[in-house]
Amino acid sequence: MRKEFVVIGLGRFGGSIVEELVRLGADVMAIDSDPERVEDYAKIATEAVIADATDEEALKSLGLQNFEHVIVAIGDDIQASILATLILKEMGVPQITAKAQNDYHAKVLHKIGADVIVHPERDMGIRIANNMMSNNVLDYLELSDEYSIMEIKSNDRIAGYSIKDLDIRANYGINIIGIKRGDHIIISPGADEKILLGDVLLVIGAIVDINRFVNRAM
Ligand code: ADP
Repeated sequence: MRKEFVVIGLGRFGGSIVEELVRLGADVMAIDSDPERVEDYAKIATEAVIADATDEEALKSLGLQNFEHVIVAIGDDIQASILATLILKEMGVPQITAKAQNDYHAKVLHKIGADVIVHPERDMGIRIANNMMSNNVLDYLELSDEYSIMEIKSNDRIAGYSIKDLDIRANYGINIIGIKRGDHIIISPGADEKILLGDVLLVIGAIVDINRFVNRAM
């Protein structure tokens, strides 16, 4: 069964949620009060609509109560984010995820019944700091806000497996571009290359995906 989502607020956070949900096969209605933002997502989302999320009648006429999950990704306008969440809750939306700008905002969202509250900037900072402190991540080159190359030391959970066995491209969307072994380096290792204990993997990909790999596989 296809899942149905609504994303309100198409800034960098909301926009990347729309893109990823669509990539994962979901149906997504993308909403923003800014026509230009909506235009940007017209071809990506299942449906892209210009609407003010603080306008109760507008949200009702879009039938948002019929969607499984609504994400309130309004950025700086805390008042609008709170009001939109309140309206959605009153309309009976089963699952509401809301982005908080700060702890005070998070507290209010929690009180009015948002089911999940996310702090993307804070969480990303914490995660990156943890990875940098983790024994497995040796070095880190930021390519952009989203992408990086990391040097990750293999441990006994992945040693002995080939790249094909781990299938990290399919599982995590990241690529091993090199393996440092002792004082030589294997560039563009083939899928059958077996990872040995102590190898250092050069991994390229989205920071969130590399983090998932480090946190789950290692
Ligand atoms: P980010 O930090 O994710 O980039 P922004 O603050 O840039 O967040 O983006 C928030 C988006 O939310 C903007 O595109 C803005 O037009 C939209 N937005 C703000 N208020 C409302 C509202 N009342 N209704 C619908 N969309 C809104």
